[in-house]
Amino acid sequence: MNTEQMVEVQCPYCAESFEVLVDCSLGHQEYVEECEVCNRPVELVIDISPEGEAAVQTRGEDV
Ligand SMILES: [Zn+2]
Repeated sequence: MNTEQMVEVQCPYCAESFEVLVDCSLGHQEYVEECEVCNRPVELVIDISPEGEAAVQTRGEDV
């Protein structure tokens, strides 16, 4: 079973969308990923639904 999903997120700084790879077997996760467009650190808050779907929220440091 492939537990990794590509999830599209929106950058809170530049509003561009980029994709992050989420390992759904890990459950709730929080980590920082650099935006591919503006290279600023985007905080990702990831929850995995019981169906195995990843839901990703983004937060900026000053947004
Ligand atoms: Zn950005």
